[in-house]
Amino acid sequence: MKLCQQARRYWRYYSIAYKKVKYQGSCDECSVEIDECEVDHRTPIGTQPRDIKDFGKWLVKLFCPASKLQGLCKTCHSAKTKRERKERNAKRGKDNASRSRRARKKTTK
Ligand SMILES: [Zn+2]
Repeated sequence: MKLCQQARRYWRYYSIAYKKVKYQGSCDECSVEIDECEVDHRTPIGTQPRDIKDFGKWLVKLFCPASKLQGLCKTCHSAKTKRERKERNAKRGKDNASRSRRARKKTTK
């Protein structure tokens, strides 16, 4: 399968980038010196899509070059994760609100 070959190739590049960032020696955010960083995508890639059509695009985001990765210490990483979760929830809340508004309009028709 073509997607598999592509994924393998991406993975090879990504694992090199990953190791480079992991052992860069300091946190990108607070500059504390650490032996092993937690590797993080600068822009969140989201969860794995259920649709196979979107899967290839997601893989490209997942297996990104080193320039799109950053090495963080545990503290900074968990702070970032928390921040992103909050943003995601806020966005989802807005989506739900507009959906239910639309649904209401339909039922009153
Ligand atoms: Zn840090």
